[in-house]
Amino acid sequence: MPTPRPSVSPGDPVAAIETPALIVDLDAFEANLTAMADYAKAKGVRVRAHAKTHKCAEIAKRQMALGAVGVCCQKVSEAIALVAGGVTDVLVSNEVLHPAKLARLAALSGEARIGICVDSDLGLDRLLVAAAGAAAPIDAYVELEVGGNRCGVTSTADGLALARRIAASNVLRFGGIHAYHGGAQHLRTPDARKAAIDVAIARSAELAAALVRDGIEVPVVTGGGTGTFINEAGSGVYNEIQPGSYIFMDRDYADNAADPSAPRFRHSLFVLTSVMSRRADFAVIDAGLKAHSIDSGFPAVAGRPDLAFDNPSDEHGIIRGSDLPALGDTLRLIPGHCDPTVNLYDWIVAVRGEKVAEIWAVEARGAVT
Ligand code: PLP
Ligand code: MN
Repeated sequence: MPTPRPSVSPGDPVAAIETPALIVDLDAFEANLTAMADYAKAKGVRVRAHAKTHKCAEIAKRQMALGAVGVCCQKVSEAIALVAGGVTDVLVSNEVLHPAKLARLAALSGEARIGICVDSDLGLDRLLVAAAGAAAPIDAYVELEVGGNRCGVTSTADGLALARRIAASNVLRFGGIHAYHGGAQHLRTPDARKAAIDVAIARSAELAAALVRDGIEVPVVTGGGTGTFINEAGSGVYNEIQPGSYIFMDRDYADNAADPSAPRFRHSLFVLTSVMSRRADFAVIDAGLKAHSIDSGFPAVAGRPDLAFDNPSDEHGIIRGSDLPALGDTLRLIPGHCDPTVNLYDWIVAVRGEKVAEIWAVEARGAVT
């Protein structure tokens, strides 16, 4: 059951929001959305934004209104929640093996354009069974391993064999090549990221050429996240990018050395927290382990680089520094990692300046199946 809707209304001051709460600064968020859309347009590549970051139909629809062709989801349950919220084009950028999940995905094809990745004959066998009962053909993408050492076929021959089977089916369409390199996103220097994506580009180009030689048209080569999208976008091989975190920019992404030619994204996502207890040498805040994800390190305190977050327990965090906030004061924490932090909240309070503007449901929160 979702938690109750936040008790504030548009026009209320941010100070009236009960904490901890997930808030989005609309000015920064809108600037990020526009910067990515403009960049992709200038480079002539499609944006298929990754919705694992926000799990929110309202945000997906805003990305599509600015030109994104659709979104990626990582899970079938996530896709179901977003399609129910009005999203009309979803690629599950992942492998799915369970027949019941595949049947649920196929059922969505009456309401939205649906795609999915495969990297095995068994996965494709099961997808073919599910797609036979679908209202419309499903786009099947061959996932290629491009250096991230996660999913994906590891040879051109295996990719070609799967693509042939997809192209021969009348319940699937061959969507193209899915070639995402997760491990490259947080390599800290632009040179290291470029070197990693150069490998991804070369492998993708090799598979694409083999498919074309075989008479299989490759409509899309897709991949690239917030850390590397400029490399995929400039490759001449990829024609679609899948950035997710750019809309929010977490602390971990801000720790990457920026590419001089990439748009600058602003922090727009914060955990609003308040001081619930004060001691002479530290403040206790109401944002502990259950209020944000610390898998990528502790949050930063927005606007207060002199303050340090420390020693979280389940429901408490400690703030240290020489000029500590007072009891009842609020702080904005920049999450270490945005995606798993959003997954902890049923609602996002969108703020403009110091006023509440909108409240968005995170429909796919907790949708991990
Ligand atoms: N594409 C795929 C397949 C992903 O798994 C991810 C994130 O893990 C992304 C795109 C988006 O990456 P980011 O949030 O780093 O922009
Ligand atoms: Mn992430």
